[in-house]
Amino acid sequence: MDADTLHSQGGSWAGPGSHAEAVRIGFDSSPLELARFGSSADLMEDSGERGLALQPADQRRVWRSPTGRLLLALSLIGPSPLKTFSAEPLVRVEMAEGSFVGLPLTWSANYGLLLEPDGRIREVEPAAALQVEQLDQGFRPSSAVDVRAALQREFGDRHAISTTPYYVVVHPHGREQWAEEFDRLHRTFLRFFETRGYPLRQGRFVMVAIVMPNRQSFERYAHQEGIAIAPQVVGYYSKRTNRIVMYDDLGAALMPTIRHEAAHQSAYNTGLHDRVYPMPTWVVEGLGGVFEVEAPGHQEPSDMRSYLRTTMRKTAQAKDLVAELVESDQLFAEEPALAYSLSWRLTDHLLRTRSMHYVRYLQQLSDPGVALQRSAVHRRALFETHLQVRIPELARELENGLANP
Ligand SMILES: [Zn+2]
Repeated sequence: MDADTLHSQGGSWAGPGSHAEAVRIGFDSSPLELARFGSSADLMEDSGERGLALQPADQRRVWRSPTGRLLLALSLIGPSPLKTFSAEPLVRVEMAEGSFVGLPLTWSANYGLLLEPDGRIREVEPAAALQVEQLDQGFRPSSAVDVRAALQREFGDRHAISTTPYYVVVHPHGREQWAEEFDRLHRTFLRFFETRGYPLRQGRFVMVAIVMPNRQSFERYAHQEGIAIAPQVVGYYSKRTNRIVMYDDLGAALMPTIRHEAAHQSAYNTGLHDRVYPMPTWVVEGLGGVFEVEAPGHQEPSDMRSYLRTTMRKTAQAKDLVAELVESDQLFAEEPALAYSLSWRLTDHLLRTRSMHYVRYLQQLSDPGVALQRSAVHRRALFETHLQVRIPELARELENGLANP
């Protein structure tokens, strides 16, 4: 189903409710904390399912408000907002806990997602709303100046704030280098795809990174966001707030994890991933793995290849493992270190051998009609069709590559 089909079927399509149910799975899951190799760790803040999009600029989604009014919403990575004000209604939702203004991304009687001007996605329960009102003006993303001012109010004078072309970064006083570092990582991400012939879209939102002074303040901040931090977690990217969060006194050994999280943020803000629609975990984590190194495309995460060499010899055949990774997200729960390593290896291999098909596969995953079809059979068929390779054949290539680097 393409975007136009969805649009034309409007309210009579399977219905916003069914979509909301699917989206809910991605947003309500409790955080999975996964330890990898003991030293670095990644927090999949909205565990399991992720969304993805390289969406057509004119893609519109149609939802009904509780009053039956049609609401049009554009993707998070959209065309210039100046051209699309009329199609992006701003609504004010009065809830018992406060008043929220934003663009409804999905809306049914008992579940709504509101995209706020700073890029945060807020879950609301429309049935519990005291009032839902469509405002006269259209949706306009916050400027860097606005974001900075809001962060100043949120964090106060105890933290410094720096602005770069892509980022607004909250950091300890005297540690401005973090702002430049995040900006550099994002430029590396953009250049990686541009040099392969896939220039990425400019995100709509100013990206925000929060560098807390130490472990204790990092844990306290995460707690306020409702996230439980396991001891091995040193940073995370949240799809919900669109922020990357970490702390200052990390040490160089943990930089791969920060690069990994920054890659998640870059991917979700350039249209490679979509923050609403679900997608296979290996796709998200595999791309994060590729960017853990200082020079992606030229280096490999040091521990992953040797880990795979020893592990895959001992465990099931490569074709079974690759199939499991493609068909479900179960391997991440069962054997996280293997799941992360194999996701990196698979993504790295596809980018080297089939980058055009890989990017087209990502585009397909962003189609709502595709993204919500998550059976093992469907996931495998989508993969094999768009990558134009059968999994056993691909697994043989991976095994050969491991044996002969
Ligand atoms: Zn990750």
